[in-house]
Amino acid sequence: MLAALRVLLLLLLPSLSQASVLSLPATGQAVLPGPFMQVWQDPQQRATLDDVRSLPDSAWQPVGRRDASFGYTGSAYWLRLQLHNPAARPMDWLLLIGNPLLDYLDAYGLEGERVYRSGDQRPFAARWLEHRQLLLPLSLAAGESRELILRMQTEGSANLSASLMTREAFNRHEQRMLLLQGLFFGALAAMCIYNLSIFIITRDRNYLWYSLFVASFGGYQFIQLGFALQWLWPHSLAWHQLSFPLSSTVAILFGILFTHGVLDLRHASQRYTQVVRILLSCTALAIGLSLFAPYRVALLASFALVIACAVLACLFTLLRWREGYKPARLFAIGWFVLIAASLFSILSGTGLIAHSRLALHAQQIGGLIELAVFSIALAARIRQAQHAQGLAQMQLLAQEQQLSLEQTKNLNLQRQLNEGLETRVQQRTAALEQALAALSGAHQQLSELSRRDSLTGLFNRQTLNEELRRSLAQAVRSQRPMAILMMDLDHFKQVNDRYGHLAGDACLHHAAQRLQQRLRAGDLLARFGGEEFVAVLGDTDLAGAHGLAEQLRDDLARHPCSYQDQSIELTISIGVCAEIPDSADSKQLLNRADQALYRAKAGGRNRVENYEASSLNEA
Ligand code: GH3
Ligand code: MG
Ligand code: MG
Repeated sequence: MLAALRVLLLLLLPSLSQASVLSLPATGQAVLPGPFMQVWQDPQQRATLDDVRSLPDSAWQPVGRRDASFGYTGSAYWLRLQLHNPAARPMDWLLLIGNPLLDYLDAYGLEGERVYRSGDQRPFAARWLEHRQLLLPLSLAAGESRELILRMQTEGSANLSASLMTREAFNRHEQRMLLLQGLFFGALAAMCIYNLSIFIITRDRNYLWYSLFVASFGGYQFIQLGFALQWLWPHSLAWHQLSFPLSSTVAILFGILFTHGVLDLRHASQRYTQVVRILLSCTALAIGLSLFAPYRVALLASFALVIACAVLACLFTLLRWREGYKPARLFAIGWFVLIAASLFSILSGTGLIAHSRLALHAQQIGGLIELAVFSIALAARIRQAQHAQGLAQMQLLAQEQQLSLEQTKNLNLQRQLNEGLETRVQQRTAALEQALAALSGAHQQLSELSRRDSLTGLFNRQTLNEELRRSLAQAVRSQRPMAILMMDLDHFKQVNDRYGHLAGDACLHHAAQRLQQRLRAGDLLARFGGEEFVAVLGDTDLAGAHGLAEQLRDDLARHPCSYQDQSIELTISIGVCAEIPDSADSKQLLNRADQALYRAKAGGRNRVENYEASSLNEA
């Protein structure tokens, strides 16, 4: 990323030009020799020191830039630096080349005729001073001036980033640098291990991609800063060459996978997924190129991919932010920090902004902040998921409450229905019972009615027969006397004829009432036929029966029937039969009473006659 933007700015920014002799400060403070250098480009890479020395002054161009960077041309660059020690004592200086990835660096004029030959495509052991960066010792006598000639040739970025400092200053600088680098890689390792363990616990792939992204980014930095060649593979020069673009493309691969997950692109628009697929294919191609293609091709491919991915990642982040996906906000901050840091670092390199320690480490610091922010974004994603889960839980709870409310309502309704049903059943049962009672009353009334004569209200002939049989049977059992009175109204035909049938009916009713009220409660009175009545008297002998018959006859004779302002005189003739029966023959009893009645009629009517077996015989 940094390198790619550097190339871009190289084309856009003006160069600085300065005096050509660098007078080394007596205080020993560090200086950047870039702007004091002159450069001659050798595209054929064939010029020798003698060729260069014989060049006219006009062939040399001022470098102008602080970092002396010339991009990816593949040319050899010859650099000329005039140094002067104005101090009155000899001074030991060190020229520190900030780009440890230079393939070849030759230095003439450091130490007599001895030529310094180093670079990362030469064995590590060839270095004069054992250091991850290219470190050139330079001793100047008091007041000495010297011309230093450097030849740099590389397939990568022709970028010297040189600084000059005394040994003491370098020692201080180095201690600080190692502490900072230790902190940087320590922080990366911590983030990597932390997120890897979260992946192991949660099985959320995004943590795996993130920790692999951090690890490959760390590897990339480890190679770029020269640690890898010094400590990991000091003899594997070919591998070292390809490891740089490879680590970069692998970091891109995990960066894409991580970004895809953390922005939740899978659940967003289909278009994101399509773009991510294309980027993944390009990344696979870039990985292939870094393994098999020439170094410069691989490097340029990886830079192009980094730019494409960075632009798209920023774009996607902003789009997702606009779509309302909250973790995208933090993600955007991460990108902003990294891009700002890269710009800061490059602008410092070109000399547009003042050189500072912060600028020196801007990219590393930016990367660290970016990774930390991404880590927070990952956590924010969990928060979002937790929030969504909480929301879902709350909704579920509310639904459950609603459901239980409905259930209670239903239960209440059911209870009410049941209660209603119960009361209705009770009401119906009561009504039914009432109806049944009424029916049975009606039935009783009906059966009572069927036992009685409708005109007089007395028992009818049918009932008389039944009751008579019962009384007779009881009298036979108990051998107690019983009596029968057979009664017939006198000349009733004449009553009908004279007063009419309705009057006759009234007379029948009147006579029945009069007879009934004179009888005892246990006695039975029935209408036997037209104007004939029969009384059955239990436990009554002949004398008793006769007395009662006389009372009945007398009562009726003295109480005429009043009908429509008329008083109709009525008399009655009664035949009495009383005995202790020896058989249950009711017909015989009735017959005997009838015979006595006949005698009463014959005797002149309005009389009472007893049945006497002897008198009958006489008759
Ligand atoms: P006697 O003194 O000999 O008994 O003379 P009687 O006229 O009473 O006897 P008879 O047997 O000749 O006539 C009975 C009359 O009773 C005839 C009938 O019109 C009348 N009678 C019978 N049943 C009823 C009735 O339910 N209502 C009315 N109004 N008259 C009736
Ligand atoms: Mg009669
Ligand atoms: Mg009669």
